[in-house]
Amino acid sequence: MLIDEDRLHIAIQKNGRLSDISRDLLKGAGLRLQNGRNALTARVENFAADIMFVRDDDIPTFVADGVCEFGIVGGNVLEEFRLSSRGPAVEIVAELGTARCSLKLAAPDATSWDGPQSLAGQRIATSYPRIVERWLAERRVDASVVKMNGAVELAPRLKIAPFICDLVSTGATLEANGLRAVADVFDSEAVLIRTTRSVAAVRQELGEALLSRIQGVLETKDAKYILLNASSESLPAITRILPGAEAPTIIPLHGRPGHFAVHAVARESVFWETLEQLKGAGASAILVLPIEKMML
Ligand code: ATP
Ligand code: MG
Repeated sequence: MLIDEDRLHIAIQKNGRLSDISRDLLKGAGLRLQNGRNALTARVENFAADIMFVRDDDIPTFVADGVCEFGIVGGNVLEEFRLSSRGPAVEIVAELGTARCSLKLAAPDATSWDGPQSLAGQRIATSYPRIVERWLAERRVDASVVKMNGAVELAPRLKIAPFICDLVSTGATLEANGLRAVADVFDSEAVLIRTTRSVAAVRQELGEALLSRIQGVLETKDAKYILLNASSESLPAITRILPGAEAPTIIPLHGRPGHFAVHAVARESVFWETLEQLKGAGASAILVLPIEKMML
């Protein structure tokens, strides 16, 4: 693969749970990808960046080696990589708040569980051996870990191991296999990672620009612009209710002494209940508008 010195390289998952999340985030940051689903790389038409579509397990390696300056990966995959590599050549630059899941220890419904000591001398099947080994070491439990690359939930039935440690979001897969979760080992969400290797000045600058756009996308995810009218007496109560808004703009209303227009950016979700509370505190003509872009 020819690495273009003047362009950024971003590794995202080719096919899987993180592919759409990653594409949407880049799209939100204004990047237009050229190629379709089956290509291994895509050139961004309107930003000096190339996207590489890879297996999620390879993303930390690509970023740590500096082949890609950025990557989007599950926190679980990153943690497993960090525990197995010598130096931390990657850093998390944004938590994306999606693809939330947990690595959980689970066992067949009938297995007795009295806390981590129940694992002593037992085998645990998992795709994340290093995370599990650390968890066991922290609890001073002596158990053996068997690495499986997939279909971990079948391990108890196949008599490979009586316990498993696997990713769970709703628990439906565990239930379908007659398993129940007994302990939480690691909580994960998708993260944006960046190489900590030194990068040519051009790419460093492109990276800062990309990061600033992505932070803007994450900031605006739940953000709304709120406009309302209020009398001077009700202003303190109203500004207290406004969700996650710092320093609202307060403008006198022409021809209505003692009355003001309040404009504020709310960083948290604005619910109907919030509007009802604002109204109750004396606000009128309340408008909630979406924010399309934001740069701080
Ligand atoms: P690849 O072919 O790229 O190796 P994979 O099969 O290893 O893909 P996926 O199943 O697509 O990986 O999951 C990718 C990431 O999505 C996981 O590493 C995890 O961070 C997250 N994830 C996994 N399972 C769930 C789940 N049930 N709910 C939410 N997020 C999940
Ligand atoms: Mg994988």
